[in-house]
Amino acid sequence: MSNKRPSAPRFRGGRRGMMLVLSSPSGAGKTTLSKRLINLHPDVVLSVSATTRAARPGEIDGEDYFFISKDEFETRIAGDGYYEHAKVFDHYYGTPVGPVEDALSDGRDVVFDIDWQGAQQLAKRAPRDVVRIFILPPSMKLLEDRLRKRGQDSEDVINSRMARAEAEISHWEEYDYVIVNEDFSGALEELEEILRAERLRRTRRPWLRRFVKDLMSERG
Ligand code: 5GP
Repeated sequence: MSNKRPSAPRFRGGRRGMMLVLSSPSGAGKTTLSKRLINLHPDVVLSVSATTRAARPGEIDGEDYFFISKDEFETRIAGDGYYEHAKVFDHYYGTPVGPVEDALSDGRDVVFDIDWQGAQQLAKRAPRDVVRIFILPPSMKLLEDRLRKRGQDSEDVINSRMARAEAEISHWEEYDYVIVNEDFSGALEELEEILRAERLRRTRRPWLRRFVKDLMSERG
C-alpha cells in the first residue's frame, strides 16, 4: 500500500493573507506591538498609508507614509484606490488598495495601525479578510503616565488626549479580540496566538477543498 499523502501546502501560496487591524488609544503600546510582530514574522507586513500632510523630520516616503499631493489623493479617491480614507486636521489620510491586495494574494498578512473609524470602514469593505484587535491599557493612570512621558505637553493637551483615548476605548466591543497590555511579552504572546489561530481558519486555506477531494478519492 502506498503511504503517499496528498500534499498540504502550509502557508505561502497556500493561503490568502489577512488584514490585522490594531486599534487602541495612543499610549497603549499598539505601535510597539505591531512593529515587534512584523520583526518576528517575515510573512507579516505593515500597511503604509498615503497622506497629503508634509513629512516630518526623519519620516521616510514609502516607509512612514506615501506623501502625495491633494490632487493626486483626490484622483485616487475617484479611482476607488483606497480601502478607506479620512480627513484629519485638514489633511487626507488613506489606505491604498494596491499594495495591500498584492500582499494578501501573495499569502502575507497586513497589519493596520488605524483608529476605530478606519477599522469600521475596512471591515465593511473587506469583511472576510479583516481581523480586528483592540489593545487596552491596564489602567487609565498608566496611559496618562505614558502620555506625559512623551513630551512636555500642557495640562490641556494631556486632558484632550485622555478624552480622545476614552472615545477610542468606547468602541472596544466592535473588535473580534481584545488584548489588555499589562506586560509587553504577555500581550505579544496573545497577539501571536491570534495570528496563529486565524491563519488556520478554513476560509483562509483555499487548498483544503482540493485536499479533501483527494482524501475522498484515495480509496477509489
Ligand atoms: P499623523 O499625522 O500624526 O501621522 O496621524 C494623524 C492621524 O491620522 C492619526 O490619528 C492616525 O491614526 C490617522 N491616520 C493615519 N493613517 C491613516 C489612514 O490610512 N486612515 C485613517 N482613517 N487614518 C489614518
